[in-house]
Amino acid sequence: MTPTSLSNAVQDPSRRHIIPLSGGKDSTALAVYMLERHSGLPLEFVFTDTGAELPETYSYLRRFEAIFGVEINRLTALDLPELQVRSKGGRRSPFDVLLNEVYSGFLPNPQARWCTRMLKIKPFEHFVGGDDAYSYIGIRADENREGFRGAAAGPSPEDDEEKAETGRAKPVVLSNRNNILPVYPLKDIGFGLDDVRDLLLGSGLGLPPYYDWRSRSGCYFCFYQQVGEWQGLKERHPELFEAAKTYEATKANGRRFTWSQTRSLEALEKLRERYATPTGEPEDGCAICHL
Ligand code: SF4
Repeated sequence: MTPTSLSNAVQDPSRRHIIPLSGGKDSTALAVYMLERHSGLPLEFVFTDTGAELPETYSYLRRFEAIFGVEINRLTALDLPELQVRSKGGRRSPFDVLLNEVYSGFLPNPQARWCTRMLKIKPFEHFVGGDDAYSYIGIRADENREGFRGAAAGPSPEDDEEKAETGRAKPVVLSNRNNILPVYPLKDIGFGLDDVRDLLLGSGLGLPPYYDWRSRSGCYFCFYQQVGEWQGLKERHPELFEAAKTYEATKANGRRFTWSQTRSLEALEKLRERYATPTGEPEDGCAICHL
């Protein structure tokens, strides 16, 4: 699973070329760059829907498709054969199926991040199957987000050893499978934040609209959100804030999970202070969901 350079990958017709989109600016800019510079490649675009994405994300992806005339493959954990949910009927959210039927109501958190593995990584691996593929990842050349986590739920001992030896964290990968090789085009071409912004604005697509009030793509209830982002959710999408609160209700067994490790959403909405909306980039989070 050694990373491949962009120049090598684009000359290799023997593998699939897959660009996973999160709905965030970096993965979208990467997709735009590849379409503009390498349109001859059989590029495949995928978006793995947790069933809890922001409305702005869904509309941004539809705009991407309309402007560039491409189709995004929409994947979900409901496609995973081991869950056997397609046969059960009814319209159910992938997140809810996993939460209630696999994880007994245990909400994910930064230490037990089952959501990324089950809702994002596994459906992607199912889509690739046994094919040899490149996965193009939108890590930029100016990235310095040590708190970001990739395919693993947290840093492994090997990651720590590598960091101690080289001073660098291991690069983010979408999958640890040997048939899926990561490529980091934005790193290879030296693209930084300003380049990403310029590319998206110049393409007519623009930046994802939620950046006005939130610093990350991903689920509306993502536990990585800061207080100002939760407050922004309540202001912009009060119905989603209420929906997020329902997950914190006390269970029949008396247990109560909360999204934030410090306070419940009920307590958070009583705060008098309006915290600043995080601008710029989140310092921690999930590379797969937020790029
Ligand atoms: S956005 Fe947050 S809650 Fe959603 S899958 Fe990613 S890490 Fe989990």
